[in-house]
Amino acid sequence: MYKKNATYEDLMLSVKSYIQNEESIALIQKAYELAKSKHEGQFRRSGEPYLNHPINVAYILSTLNSNPATICGGLLHDVCEDCDVSVDEMKELFGEEIARLVDGCTKIGAIKFKDEKEYFAENHRKIFIAMAKDIRVIMIKLADRLHNMRTLDFMPIEKQKKISKETLDVYAPIAHRLGISEIKNELEDLAFFYLDKEKYYEIARLVENRKSERDAFINEMIKKIEDILHAHNIPYRIFGRSKHLYSIYKKMTKKNKRFEEIFDLLAIRIITSTDLNCYEILGYIHAMFMPIPGRFKDYIAMPKPNMYQSLHTTILEEGSIFEIQIRTEDMDAIAEKGVAAHWRYKEGIKFNAEESQKEIEAKLQWFKELVAISDVDDNQDAQQYMDSLQKDIFEANVYVLSPRGRVIELPNGSTPLDFAYRIHTEVGHNTIGALVNGVLVPLNTVLKTGDVVEMRTQKHGRGPSEDWLKIVKTSHAKSKIRAYFTNKQRENRAEVIKNGEELIKEELRKRQIHEKDFLDSKKMEHYLSDFAVNTYEDLLFAVGSRSLNPTTLVDKISNKKVIQDNALLDYINKSKTKTISQTGIIVPGIEGMKIVLAGCCNPIPGDEIVGFITKGQGVKVHRCECPNIKNETKRIINVEWDEEFSTTRKYEVDIIVYATDRSFLLSDIITMIAQCKANLVNIHGSVAPDKITAIFKIRMSIENNEHYRLVVSNLRKVNSVTSVERTIH
Ligand code: MN
Repeated sequence: MYKKNATYEDLMLSVKSYIQNEESIALIQKAYELAKSKHEGQFRRSGEPYLNHPINVAYILSTLNSNPATICGGLLHDVCEDCDVSVDEMKELFGEEIARLVDGCTKIGAIKFKDEKEYFAENHRKIFIAMAKDIRVIMIKLADRLHNMRTLDFMPIEKQKKISKETLDVYAPIAHRLGISEIKNELEDLAFFYLDKEKYYEIARLVENRKSERDAFINEMIKKIEDILHAHNIPYRIFGRSKHLYSIYKKMTKKNKRFEEIFDLLAIRIITSTDLNCYEILGYIHAMFMPIPGRFKDYIAMPKPNMYQSLHTTILEEGSIFEIQIRTEDMDAIAEKGVAAHWRYKEGIKFNAEESQKEIEAKLQWFKELVAISDVDDNQDAQQYMDSLQKDIFEANVYVLSPRGRVIELPNGSTPLDFAYRIHTEVGHNTIGALVNGVLVPLNTVLKTGDVVEMRTQKHGRGPSEDWLKIVKTSHAKSKIRAYFTNKQRENRAEVIKNGEELIKEELRKRQIHEKDFLDSKKMEHYLSDFAVNTYEDLLFAVGSRSLNPTTLVDKISNKKVIQDNALLDYINKSKTKTISQTGIIVPGIEGMKIVLAGCCNPIPGDEIVGFITKGQGVKVHRCECPNIKNETKRIINVEWDEEFSTTRKYEVDIIVYATDRSFLLSDIITMIAQCKANLVNIHGSVAPDKITAIFKIRMSIENNEHYRLVVSNLRKVNSVTSVERTIH
């Protein structure tokens, strides 16, 4: 069994059990010598020499049959951080590869971060990114963490808890993902111990109390199985096993089960030589004992995402339930040591970091995703990076299948869209539907382990919808959908801006103004505020999106007034000097008469008017042409506009504008009304049944008939306007 506190001799013994090459041994010795001299005089909190730590880290790595460079990395992992040795020096002494491993393990300086959380996140990100480039970095980190956890007793309680929590949150899940259950289980139990000693001891005591009874049951069952295997001449190793304490605790709390329910499951493992032997053994067991339906799992045909392979079955024998795992030696090594077993060092075969990274990516799907997450962009907030790592990779626990049997690991609550984005971003974007187990389902269906998911896609389809953001669970899918929209907006905006530029150019061509004199972001800066925009691009965007007329823009900037009509200019100048009487209308010879303007024809000063004597409502003033009084003769009296008349009061007048519909039409009309100093009260636009003619019913307030005529004549000049009429109701 492995030593919990190894010496240099233990390390070398362990190393030499699988490394014979003299150069490699010499390199490891050289690393040891450097670590020894650099850590000289340093001590750990326990009082032991610091050097014990790197020796043990290297020793743990050697139990995983790590290659010589990784062992050196383990010995040197704290040298850069704690002893002022630069990465360059390391490179000179041990070469690029080892220097990179050591650098990957080195914490970043804590200085520039605003709080501990940020530092923590940033630090992890560095490790993960290094790991995404070379898996051996995390192997060293795991060994480092394991030894630190073993020696945590000497830390202050608060630190013990913090480190333990981090171990459970980050390191144990990585060990699990890499399939290194040996390390994962020990890390979990150690962290459990420091986080909740009371519970830890309680479960440990329960386990201890039941141990002999349990062992008796297991041994009896083992004997029965041995007899069968022996009779059929199948090679095997068989042993009982117990769950580690933390996994019992987790099942009790998460699945809300009693201790007995978990612990009374008696677990037996059978190791044999070939895949075929596994199925053979399974066959005999199912023939001899009563298998519990629905509990058989074939992880040989369909390995778990962390490469785990095994047959699992549960049988009932004399009232006891036995969980039986059947696998080959190779599978067992992978089940215990995971990636490390797969890449265990073989003498004479050169380790190719790049190739094994690729191999790892092919074998471990999540690792590929880790690489993808780490690749996205360096500006990504470290906390966000850790969050998506946590959510998408560590908390993944639903396993679904593609139609071809590829296992995809997703977090609980994931939907077919999450699955689609996992497969490929384009599959996600082009999704139009999903089949789960052959049945068409809504896209927000929550997937369960074992579901076979098939996506329906359409090239150049509608693309993602905003609603998808509410449906998807993984931050991977979320970020892809967001990126899609950001991109699209950017593209759209770019198009609108280009369009705006074209519209202005067209206007400039019409007026024979040189583009260069005009379309200049510097020059335009002065005018931005006139059009209530912040940047030159915003200005172009406003034109392109038809909220600003290029004519108006060019007018303003080229200093040419729209109002070239001299009469209008005269009017505007004159109107400033006029003085005014109160009533506005004179009824010759009568004083104190109540005078009202008729609502049907809305007379305005300057109109030809007549008075109509109403019954009890005084005199109503109509325009002469008003059809409502055409036939009246008796009650009509003469009225006149007071020549001096003008007040702050304005008169409302209704007009109707007909025009051939075009873009900017509305904005041109409104602009013209404003430029003529009339106030728009309301405007109602519609399109005539011919679909060509636009009709605007406009109520504006103006000063008098002269003003009115100028507005109308200018409106008639607006391009494509066919007629302007005054309305009588
Ligand atoms: Mn360390």
